[in-house]
Amino acid sequence: MARIPDAFIDDLLARTDIVEVVGSRVPLKRQGREYSARCPFHDERSPSFTVSPTKQFYHCFGCGAHGTAISFLMNYDRLEFLDAVEELAKRCGLEVPRDTQQRNQSGESRELYSALEAAARFFQQQLTGSQKARAYLERRGVDAENQARFGIGYAPDGFNGLKDALGTDERRLSLLDKTGMLSKSDSGRVYDKFRDRVMFPIHDRRGRVIAFGGRVLEKDDGPKYLNSPETVLFHKGRELYGLWQVRQAHSKIPRLVVVEGYMDVVALFQFGVNTAVATLGTATTPDHAELLFRNAADVYFCFDGDRAGRGAAWKALESVLPRMRDGRQAFFLFLPEGEDPDTIVRKEGAGGFDARLAQATPLSEFFYNELSKDVNLAGMEGKARLAERAKPLLANIPDGAFRDLMQQRLTELTGVGQRAEAAPAAAATPSMRGGRSGAPAPKRSLVRTAIALLLQQPALADAIEPPYQFGVLRQPGIALLMELIELARARPGITTGAVLEHFAEREEGAALQKLATQAFPGEVAAWRSEFLDALAQLDRQTRQQRIEELQVRINEVGMSGLSDPEKAELRELHAAR
Ligand SMILES: [Zn+2]
Repeated sequence: MARIPDAFIDDLLARTDIVEVVGSRVPLKRQGREYSARCPFHDERSPSFTVSPTKQFYHCFGCGAHGTAISFLMNYDRLEFLDAVEELAKRCGLEVPRDTQQRNQSGESRELYSALEAAARFFQQQLTGSQKARAYLERRGVDAENQARFGIGYAPDGFNGLKDALGTDERRLSLLDKTGMLSKSDSGRVYDKFRDRVMFPIHDRRGRVIAFGGRVLEKDDGPKYLNSPETVLFHKGRELYGLWQVRQAHSKIPRLVVVEGYMDVVALFQFGVNTAVATLGTATTPDHAELLFRNAADVYFCFDGDRAGRGAAWKALESVLPRMRDGRQAFFLFLPEGEDPDTIVRKEGAGGFDARLAQATPLSEFFYNELSKDVNLAGMEGKARLAERAKPLLANIPDGAFRDLMQQRLTELTGVGQRAEAAPAAAATPSMRGGRSGAPAPKRSLVRTAIALLLQQPALADAIEPPYQFGVLRQPGIALLMELIELARARPGITTGAVLEHFAEREEGAALQKLATQAFPGEVAAWRSEFLDALAQLDRQTRQQRIEELQVRINEVGMSGLSDPEKAELRELHAAR
């Protein structure tokens, strides 16, 4: 995947004004230091969407949507990361740096795209000439409009249809091969991969054909679905069949329904449910989950009600958990034995299908139902087992209200985990006995305070110089604090938004976003001294930590067992205290 240097992203964000980018798409109203609007990502009457010119990010207090100018374009214009970067770069007259190898590759990609486009046309022509393929689509109720919408075609029987039509010279043959359209026998003979199948082109998010799925016409003619292999252009774990068509049908996608086969997507469309997509012969991956949620806040997973279906649903749930930021919802719909979305929508129409969606199981319910299936919650052992199973999974949910509620539900079910979140903050207190006496226990931990202040004003990092004593303090968040300080010092003038962009793909991202969004109490002018004060206290705790380490040594080997430098260090530590 193309990698753009972080420094370029920082520079780009420094030269972009998020207020302009958002304001040209959503009417903004000035309100004190910030701008507000009705949120473009969820329906609301009163504005809870704010854009901060100083922090250079946006945040919605209603649905939790947030990010920089880049993520705004990704979500609002539905661009991919690279395209959003290109778009902003164009605005400020920057050229996106890419290495030369990349440039050569993109020359070849263009040729690969046109080879696939030509293959799609070839299959469509073949469909016109094939009585049995047309009869199949007619039987499935797919009309001409939907055949065109999905670009459905037919790969002829025989071994050389496509190869003879398009692979007319060595170069073209090699392109077809690179797009995964050919197979090779043990004896080295090259032939068409797809034969006697209804062909569904798979489009990328710009509507280009990147692969195919082929479906057999009759049962027992080999595997029901056959996909293109992974190629330079096609990574099945990152693509969703039908997403392009769904996007074309909506200016704002109300929800997405994930089904198993291409034919399900097409049939649902045909009968008026134009929000379905399918994974391509794989379980739902975390990449899929992110892609789904980037397009719609509500995602419905549709599975067979049998054992295999529930297994697949659980896999999907595991992929979705780390992406469950506030404002996103996932549901699971289990179909009756022997039915699939195609047969249901045929019998019950769009209305019937929608009614089933309305009854779908929320993620939270499915989660606890599955985990407690073979557990007796009346007994202590059962409760403990449920808690044991749930904890590592809950830990994957990003920080936020949804995670709190899931945690709360676990507590209701088991009594385990009450005030579990208070633990890290409390851990900071015991070693503070060497600190100022009589001071009330701080509400946030010191580390949290320092991080929150840095996020409000990254330039605060210039107020200190390495080496940082507190770097070796064993407390949650120290490594993150160090990283933030180093980042802010390496990139003078970096905005809050750009800092968050660095962490967008990381676990800590959500927590940092939350801290950055909270208005920090007190005068801006006082932040610097508060920041320095917090770090000074951390330094003090670090010295205390070292004293305790040496104390442990003394308990083991006696005072006389310490080396001279250790004794000197201990004297200094006590003096500094
Ligand atoms: Zn919102």
